[in-house]
Amino acid sequence: MRPNSQELKRKSSHDTEREFGGTLGAIGIPIFLPLTVLFLISTSRSPEASVLQWPPSLPSTDQLWDPLALVVLLCWIALHALLYLMPLGKVSEGLVLRDGSRLKYPINGFHGLCITGVLLMFLVGLGAPLGYLFELLVPLAVCAIAVSFLFSVYLYIRSFLAPSHALALGGNTGNPLYDFFIGRELNPRIGNFDLKYFCELRPGLIGWVVINLGMLMKEVELRGSPSLAMILVNSFQLLYVADALWNEEAVLTTMDIVHDGFGFMLVFGDLAWVPFTYSLQASFLVVHPQALSSLRAAVIITLNGIGYYIFRKSNSQKNQFRRDPSHPSVARLETIATATGKRLLVSGWWGLVRHPNYLGDLLMALAWSLPCGFSHLLPYFYVIYFAVLLIHREDRDERQCRTKYGLAWDTYCRRVPYRIFPYLY
Ligand code: NDP
Repeated sequence: MRPNSQELKRKSSHDTEREFGGTLGAIGIPIFLPLTVLFLISTSRSPEASVLQWPPSLPSTDQLWDPLALVVLLCWIALHALLYLMPLGKVSEGLVLRDGSRLKYPINGFHGLCITGVLLMFLVGLGAPLGYLFELLVPLAVCAIAVSFLFSVYLYIRSFLAPSHALALGGNTGNPLYDFFIGRELNPRIGNFDLKYFCELRPGLIGWVVINLGMLMKEVELRGSPSLAMILVNSFQLLYVADALWNEEAVLTTMDIVHDGFGFMLVFGDLAWVPFTYSLQASFLVVHPQALSSLRAAVIITLNGIGYYIFRKSNSQKNQFRRDPSHPSVARLETIATATGKRLLVSGWWGLVRHPNYLGDLLMALAWSLPCGFSHLLPYFYVIYFAVLLIHREDRDERQCRTKYGLAWDTYCRRVPYRIFPYLY
């Protein structure tokens, strides 16, 4: 047994460092972020679309509830649960758990996306008013927030039935508010149905591109055809979602699956935050159409292409290296040894900065905002928020890597001094 993992196993989960501002964050974030979602949707469709306007634009109470929204949301989640259970695609094993076992996961998210696409085309062909999603957005977000709270309560309660080795190391502090927020159980399952893995990439992520499509259809209703800006936003974000689902297996080695418990933070992020705030550019464009010259469009497409190239190449390089370090595409890269037996890449993409995948992601985020012009700050919300999220995430990851790899991580940091932006940060 290797010393570092032994140490991790022995470490009592009660003395782990608290994240996201501890108890204060655990109380404040579940109040503040749902309100932010409603504020942003409301602002994106107001004529001023000003995030700095006072009093802030919030939906009126009669706009909050529509029974149709609840039906749509529950049917949507049920559809994706069915697609998850389809015997399509391969089955992969996750990383080894603390009790030495490995869980099995169906890799069929991309199939789910394609089937959803065909179903939508069929429904639109039959005359389904997909553009009505624009009107339904606020009540849908309210329902997604309510479902996130209820689901997190269920997850918290059921986590007390789980054996201690099935709890996340950071989610079992004994403080109910914090544990509810950060997540106690690592891989809650109903039979073989993995609740966290299901929520990570399916209802919310696919929901995001469907909301985008709804905004495009609304634009067609209002103006006869979709604008170039709307087409770019839809295409870029569809590429991103399709890529995530095509490479679904890679999610099995991410922090969310390997390290974080399944609590309010991830549930709300997956089911409410991602679909309703990541689609802000599209909903902004419905009310604030933007003219886009071919030259500007070409520059934006190039920027998205560069970002995607860096993002995909660096993620694939690390995944390949972790799966099979002797593979010809990574075998020649320079690496350093660590006490855990795993090695760290110090050349190739991971020799450029310590998180090249975040760099690519951020360049894409900028390209998604630029089609919305420069008159408003709101469409840039995503890139600003995402920079904060990735800087924070990078910091969390560094702390975990330092715990895992000790001196070897310090050597890596000396060899590759920049975290995300070469020569800047
Ligand atoms: P990463 O894919 O960046 O993985 C970090 C892990 O990689 C580390 O914990 C370490 O794990 C390993 N690693 C770090 N440095 C090296 C190295 N030099 N050589 C080999 N292995 C190394 O984690 P994330 O889950 O944060 O990101 C995955 C992708 O998801 C990124 O592209 C990110 O941009 C994206 N993302 C998108 C979000 C969104 O909302 N759109 C939100 C969050 C992430 P170990 O050594 O144990 O293998």
